[in-house]
Amino acid sequence: MPQYEKILLKNMEQPGYSGSLQDYERTGGYQALRKVLKGISPADVTDIVKNSGLRGRGGAGFPTGVKWSFVPKDHPGPKYLCCNADESEPGTFKDRQLMERDPHQLLEGMVLTCYAIGAQTGYIYIRGEFRLGATILERAIEEAKQAGYIGQNVLGSGLTANIYVHAGAGAYICGEETALLESLEGKRGMPRFKPPFPATHGLYQQPTVVNNVETLANIPHIVTRGAEWFASIGAPPRSTGTRIFCLSGHVKWPGNYEVPMGITFRELIFENGGGMRSDSKKLKGIIPGGASAAFFTEEHLDVKLDFESVAQAGSMLGSGGVTVMEEGTSMVWAAMRLMEFFYHESCGKCTPCREGSSWLLQTLQRIWARRGRAEDLDMLLDLCKNIEGRTICAFGDAEVAPVVSTLRYWRNEYEELIREAEVTRPAKGEIPVFTH
Ligand code: SF4
Repeated sequence: MPQYEKILLKNMEQPGYSGSLQDYERTGGYQALRKVLKGISPADVTDIVKNSGLRGRGGAGFPTGVKWSFVPKDHPGPKYLCCNADESEPGTFKDRQLMERDPHQLLEGMVLTCYAIGAQTGYIYIRGEFRLGATILERAIEEAKQAGYIGQNVLGSGLTANIYVHAGAGAYICGEETALLESLEGKRGMPRFKPPFPATHGLYQQPTVVNNVETLANIPHIVTRGAEWFASIGAPPRSTGTRIFCLSGHVKWPGNYEVPMGITFRELIFENGGGMRSDSKKLKGIIPGGASAAFFTEEHLDVKLDFESVAQAGSMLGSGGVTVMEEGTSMVWAAMRLMEFFYHESCGKCTPCREGSSWLLQTLQRIWARRGRAEDLDMLLDLCKNIEGRTICAFGDAEVAPVVSTLRYWRNEYEELIREAEVTRPAKGEIPVFTH
């Protein structure tokens, strides 16, 4: 297996590393915070992060330092930091590992971010099912408070940075930043219309930064080792640093792999992941960035895992969930299963998504049950066209991606199921005979 320098998973892969404050400090933990409080201004911390080229690791890939710089400096009221730990994208499981195995890395990143944006309060909005992660984080917050890294007068500097854990109730849409804010305010988790953006009107209508777990965990390392160091890793200038890819599906060694951005899918799947689980079966399809990303085929194996290359090839890096499917997998079935998820998770606020997901699912189920009609394929594409770009949040675009991409690459599988339906469909007036 190729060896790359790890940043985020480095500590936890050391034998005996427990994630305790003592262990974290032994590996240089909280030195970035000490360095900053000795005399680096909040504006300079923001500039370091900007110059590093760090982009959000949650899905959208927005430049982190630029996002911070949108927060008004002269705002008279409170400002907030929200850590998006509502990791719910099917095939994505990296934030969970970061929180459970090295919680102080995230907490140090949050205190540094609070300092940079001028927030005194940070919330970790964690997926409700991550009970273990929430418990570990709460314990770590208590440890950090006792040691003076969190709370009032951090390390005697006068900085106040309080951090709280807030568990969600299990809705995928609360990973969308404005739905997360609504939920945190105690309301039903539904996305808000944008603009205004959270940087000016976020939690309780106050300036707020929402950053993902992996994004925030990178901050202490960038501050300690410098923007130039981080910017030299990966595929600069637009995809810098490492990325944790969650490899799952029909591979030999599924798991989280931290690699520099810019390696290819072939390297990730065959060199890191050990290749296909069955040597006799070829790779058929790849979901390159979580369930919301359009499928790739074997022909995309040499596409680089960076923001631009994946986008140019017609999909997105998204949440970093790479799911591999071997030959023999029905892509109609795969699209239908994904649509079941999206139909279940649509928050229902806008009509194209709420009604469209239901129609898409019903049509896919009909085709899979060998009751489809030839015109169903054009109807599926027409439905997708009427959802894409017409919804309040990006969920609408996400739910059509599996349908459009499987129809693009494996239309023959849909047609085959419809042909089977035509053979068994009773002629007009004939009484159907069901055998099962
Ligand atoms: Fe809700 Fe779907 Fe509309 Fe997003 S696109 S606001 S999830 S109904």
